[in-house]
Amino acid sequence: MNLVYVNCPRCEETFYVDPEFFEVPDAYCHCPYCAHEFSVYRQRSA
Ligand SMILES: [Zn+2]
Repeated sequence: MNLVYVNCPRCEETFYVDPEFFEVPDAYCHCPYCAHEFSVYRQRSA
C-alpha cells in the first residue's frame, strides 16, 4: 500500500491519503481532525 501525507489547509494537521487524490481533480480529501474537505490535485508533497 502506497500512501502519501497531506497537510490540511485549515487546521494544518497532516494525515495520510491514497496517492490517487493527487491525480483526480474531483477527489477531495476529508480531514479527520477538523472535517475540512479539500482538493490536493497536483499538490504532491515532497
Ligand atoms: Zn483539518
